[in-house]
Amino acid sequence: MSPERFARINKLLDRRQPDLTLCLESVHKNHNLSALIRTADAVGLHEVHAIWFDRKGKIKGGTAMGSQQWVKVHHHDSTAETIAQLKAEGKQVLVTHLSASAIDFRKVDYTKPTAILFGQEKHGVSEQALALADQHVVIPMVGMAQSLNVSVAAAAILYEAQRQRENAGMYERPQLSADERHRVLFEGGHP
Ligand code: SAM
Repeated sequence: MSPERFARINKLLDRRQPDLTLCLESVHKNHNLSALIRTADAVGLHEVHAIWFDRKGKIKGGTAMGSQQWVKVHHHDSTAETIAQLKAEGKQVLVTHLSASAIDFRKVDYTKPTAILFGQEKHGVSEQALALADQHVVIPMVGMAQSLNVSVAAAAILYEAQRQRENAGMYERPQLSADERHRVLFEGGHP
């Protein structure tokens, strides 16, 4: 690896936000998955979670632009177990849904350890996810369409999180463990 590439990867790792993650519940269209991973990488997420009820989606190089190498995807088959794991890691679990009890996504404190769950393209999030959430959040909609594309919704929320974390100086304080940094630097990105 050239010294320039080594320095570039080190800089990327300095800004990773391991306590901010996405949880994708049965989001299955490949172009959406790839766009989600690309945005996750751009905001500095180190890993995301994908819950599959039936078939597993694929993250393709084209739309993801190689970001899949830098964002680890953990695969799960149970919403309840995944949310329990995220809560056990100390993360608040936000479920994105257009419900009456949902709060505006800009009212959330994303400087806290946070997992943001997004639902399937057609059916949205499961009842189980809604029941287990710490908070429901919504992006206000005033047009004819009732919802946004899932990757667009994630980009809006992730960039609000990025804005808050930047203001709080969280991109200035390296947060990855020494072991994880070493693994990425010397064993390459995520396979
Ligand atoms: N008919 C589905 C429903 O009733 O939820 C629409 C699903 S939407 C296309 C896919 C996912 O994008 C949703 O499950 C949610 O995670 C996210 N999403 C889309 N628009 C949103 C909004 N305005 N506020 C919050 N989340 C939104």
